[in-house]
Formats: sequence, structure tokens, C-alpha cells
Amino acid sequence: MQKPPRANPYRDAWAGDLDAGRAGSSARVAGWVHRRRDHGGLIFVDLRDRSGIVQLVFHPDQPEAFAAAERLRPEHVLSAQGEVVRRAPENVNPNIPTGEIELQVAEVTPLAESETPPFPIDEDTPVDEMLRLRHRMLDLRREGMRDALVLRDAVIRTMRETLAAEDFLEIETPILTRSTPEGARDFLVPNRREPGTWYALPQSPQLFKQLLMMSGYERYYQIARCFRDEDTRADRQAEFTQLDVEMGFVEEDDVLGVMERLMAKVFALAGFDVPAPPWERLPYDEAMLRWGSDRPDRRFGLEIVDVGDALRGSDFKVFESVLGSGGVVRAINAGNQSLSRSELDGLNEVVQRHGGKAVAWATVEETGAWRSPIAKFLGPERTQAAGELLGASFGDLLLFVADQRDVAATALGGLRLELGRRFGLISEDVHDVHWVVDFPMFERTEEGWTAMHHPFTAPTGSFDDPGAMRSRGYDIVVDGSELGGGSIRIHEQDVQRKVFELLGMDEEEAQSRFGFLLDALRFGAPPHGGIALGIDRVVAVMAGRDSIRDVIAFPKTASGQDPLTGAPAEIDERQLRELGLRLR
Ligand code: ASP
Repeated sequence: MQKPPRANPYRDAWAGDLDAGRAGSSARVAGWVHRRRDHGGLIFVDLRDRSGIVQLVFHPDQPEAFAAAERLRPEHVLSAQGEVVRRAPENVNPNIPTGEIELQVAEVTPLAESETPPFPIDEDTPVDEMLRLRHRMLDLRREGMRDALVLRDAVIRTMRETLAAEDFLEIETPILTRSTPEGARDFLVPNRREPGTWYALPQSPQLFKQLLMMSGYERYYQIARCFRDEDTRADRQAEFTQLDVEMGFVEEDDVLGVMERLMAKVFALAGFDVPAPPWERLPYDEAMLRWGSDRPDRRFGLEIVDVGDALRGSDFKVFESVLGSGGVVRAINAGNQSLSRSELDGLNEVVQRHGGKAVAWATVEETGAWRSPIAKFLGPERTQAAGELLGASFGDLLLFVADQRDVAATALGGLRLELGRRFGLISEDVHDVHWVVDFPMFERTEEGWTAMHHPFTAPTGSFDDPGAMRSRGYDIVVDGSELGGGSIRIHEQDVQRKVFELLGMDEEEAQSRFGFLLDALRFGAPPHGGIALGIDRVVAVMAGRDSIRDVIAFPKTASGQDPLTGAPAEIDERQLRELGLRLR
């Protein structure tokens, strides 16, 4: 800890801060019984507080303290005073910072007892997550959770300090607001004063931060809680925390520059070793082509190669009909891997899980020829040309997907990741950070167009060909996770109107939903842009945790339940009546 505690009846020192420098002096510490051992007439207690652990020793020649120690059990709370003494060399514990000393207890004050916890606090053994969440107050006592929350604090503090030093202002925006458009479902809060009207919880402070730019608060940030009522998706939380940033009179280099300086400092906190910025800016099309993902994990190879031109014109009907209808044939050289027939068949399932139909395979023989059910239809010239593109050599396994471009890209992207994991190609010590840029502005849906980022992102290109328009958006991607994204925004009224129009919003709807933004655009809106980073994900990636639940003090389960408080819960009849609500 940075500062000793004020001496009070409970403690005058932090347990984890006592060291050999204090030997010979008296100290009083307070905390929980981490572990207790009886040893040939002596009782040892590892006492834990937030700072760490110190060993207490109870001698029978201090009968009162010794008797109290006999009654101590794990997680009892106490205060103890005694002399800090050096341990004999053979008893030094090099694994803890206080391992050279122990506290010989002269006096102990039991402060609270504890029932036997439902799982051990003193070991980081795996425990059923429902049990951990049900007893989160105990789970948070465990070292792994404490380390994660300490890291989280350091990350957020570094963000605040860096941005303050870059002249940003921290400004809060409302939690009770009206629907903001990030594309998910809103959480709604009924308005008691006017039944039938609703607040929405913000999916992000997007519109407020844009208004702040229009009000002249040119560099804004906030550690913002965001709410999205999405169906269960892997490792998402209905409420999550973003570092939300917006800047006035900027272009991409300004926003990305600030974020690179900030993230380089954040990564350094945990010795998360990434190259020094500037970080590569990867165009979306290239990411999709080579890695089959808009958040590519580039820590390993297995890149995707387009072999359509090399294989075109063969007798293999499947490839020909796909190529003939504007589709693609793409492939991965999976390297020298021998998979059994059933393992190869199993790859179809992998591809199907990622939206594809099937995968074709070939293995390269010593002569360079392909052993494959499809080789004879393709013919040696084509297989040789494709083999060259794939850098194929003897023993390599080649995997092909033929489909429409986006489907093939995603299917191979999913296959690539799965193979990377299965073959153990992903090293935890190598990290990759880059930007993805030049996203399509709009995506086609059955009903028309939607904005790929959000409708306030500045487009490039012509509205005559919306499918070809790009956005001035950017995502930051680390080890295959999207840690955040943002864009340069629209600051011209007519462009904003055109975007709304293309999204199928008529004048009236645009006015009713976003009238305040359209109004603001009429009164001198500066060019502006910003970004938001998912803090939960940043900390999880840095802490090497699979789930963001492990870096949130009080998370909910994947289905949105909080086993600790029992939320969400029913409300009583009176509350419903007050709100003017009736359940159907
Ligand atoms: N508000 C956006 C989001 O939450 C980020 C941004 O455009 O700044 O995804």
C-alpha cells in the first residue's frame, strides 16, 4: 500500500507491508484468517487484509492469545498485536513479500466469527461459477478476483490520468434518457408521473457526447456505464463499462493518436507486451480476405488465400457454379497436419457453425500432386497454380470453401481460429494490436440498409451506390478481440438526413427520435469524432481471463441473472399500480 493506515484500535500497519526492515518493532494488524495450522505446540495463522498476507505465530507462553488462536477458523476476523521477528532462514517463504518475517502475537482481539465458507478462499481452485456468484462477497476475497480488480483500478486510473494530461474533461451524461441507437434493444424504465411514457437506459452516451462537441467541450471523456438488452451472446453483460471519448475539430489521426498513447500506457501496467505505436491500420476488406474476420487474431498464420482464379474453368461443378455466380473459392494451408477421415469430415461442422456449407480438402504429395476426392476434376495445372498461391509443400493439408464472398470469408475465418486453437498455434505471450479501418458504411438487410457502425458515422463515397460507401470508422483489435471502436462523425445536416433516409427513416421519424441532434446540427456543429473502449474486455484480455465476469465485481450470468441479489425480481402489486402497469 502507498500509505500506512492511521493507527487505531484495529491496526497500525498493513499485513502485506511488514518486512524485515520492521524486525524488532511492534505492529498491530487486522484482517481475516486465511489459513490456520497447529504445529507442535505453536499455532500459525496467515492473516489476510487487502494488502496481502502476514504469518502470525501464537506461543503457549502467551496463554490468553494462544487460547483465542485455538478457536480461530478460516475467515474469522481479528486484530492482533505483537513483535515483528525475522524467521529462521529455513522457514523463510520466498513466495510472499512478508515471507522473511512473522508476527509473534502478544495480544489478539477476535472481531467476528465466520461460518465455514461454501468454497475455499485460500486457494484459486476452480469453483462452480453459480456458487461463486451466489456468494460473490466471499469470491471477491480470493486472490484472483482481488488481482483482477486491482488491475481494473489501475487501468481506469491510467485512462483518467492520461486523458487529463491531454486536456480532456470528464463529464457525466444521463442514465435516464431516451432511446439511443447502437442497434440493440433498450432497457426501459416506466415513468410513474406519466404512465405510458418511458425512459430508456443509454446504450452509450453517443448523442450526448456529440452534443458536447457542439457545445464546445472539445475534449470529453467519461467512464460510462452502458446498457444493452441483447439476447445471450457469449460473454456479454447487459450493463458494461466503456471509456467514452469525443474530440472536436479532429480527423482519424487525432483520435487514434490519443488512444494509442493511452493504450500503450494501459498495456504497460500488466507487462502486456505489444509493439510501440503507431499500430497498423488494416482495411476491413483485407482483414476479411486474409483472416476471415473484422477482428482478426493475427498471433498465428493459417492465412486465407483466394484461389478462385487459379481453379476457374475446371470440371468440378461445385466450384464452377459458385465462381459463375459471382462467388469465391478460398483456402487455408493448414500445414503439415494429418487428420483422420472423420476429423476431416468434422471440419464440415466447424464451417457450418460459421455459416458455410462444406469444406473440401487436399493433402499435398511428394510430387506436389494433390491427394483429394476433387483433384481429378481440377486437373494438375490448376492444382499446381493454387498450390503455389498457398505456398503448399509435401504433407500440407489444404482446406477449401466455395461460397458467396462474405459467407466464405466468415466460414474460413471460423475454421482458421478453430484450427489455430486445435493445433496449439496461439501463443499467450505474443500479442497483436492493430486497427481495422475502411468499414462498409451500410449493410444490406432484408428490409433495406442498416448502418454498420451507427448512423452518425461519417460516410465516404456516393449515396448513389450505398453498398460501396465506406465509413470513417475504426476498431481497435487485440489478440482477436475488438476492444473498442469509434468514428469521425457526420457534422453536416444534409448528410445526416441522407443517412437517416437511406436507413428508411422518414423526416418525421428522424425528427421525433433524433430531433435534438438535428437541431444541434443547425446551430454550428464542428467536425468531430471519437471512440469508446470496452473496459471490461480490456481488463479481461490483459489479465488473461476468458470471461469479462472475472473482472467485474458484481456481474450477472450470461442470461442476465444476479444470483447474489436475485435480480431481476418481481415487484409488488402496489408498485405496479403506481406505475400504471398491468402484467399480461
Ligand atoms: N458509441 C459507440 C459504441 O458504443 C462508440 C463510438 O462511436 O464512439 O459503439
